Amino acid sequence: MASIPLPALDRPLTAPYWAAAREQRLMVQQCNACQTRQWPPKPVCSTCLREMTADDWVEVEPTGTVWSFIVYHRAFHPGFADRLPYNVAMVRLDAGPMVITNVVDCEKPVIGQRVTARFCPEGDEAVLVRFAPVA
Ligand SMILES: [Zn+2]
Repeated sequence: MASIPLPALDRPLTAPYWAAAREQRLMVQQCNACQTRQWPPKPVCSTCLREMTADDWVEVEPTGTVWSFIVYHRAFHPGFADRLPYNVAMVRLDAGPMVITNVVDCEKPVIGQRVTARFCPEGDEAVLVRFAPVA
């Protein structure tokens, strides 16, 4: 059985995010100059264009709201074949940034639904941040 594609955990740009996820914490980049929060991580601040460093990270509340989603009924990678159907959702974090994720533990996401993070081990070392409806 094929596995899903997993992220490289040791790239300097994204390593803080993956390390925090392994500790069940959610982090986003936050520019130390202008306080802009952004996800996914970028080499420069999207507001003031300052070069981001390993210090430009902040832990945020792992909560948000479903902004949009789509349900896949066809596997475009063999690793997803046994997961069909599955959703890919855009969740607006309460902390600001929008993340692309999956909403789990529900039949189908609902736009506007409140969600909280689920830290899901995948493969040997990765922990993916998915979201589930707030009970
Ligand atoms: Zn900035």
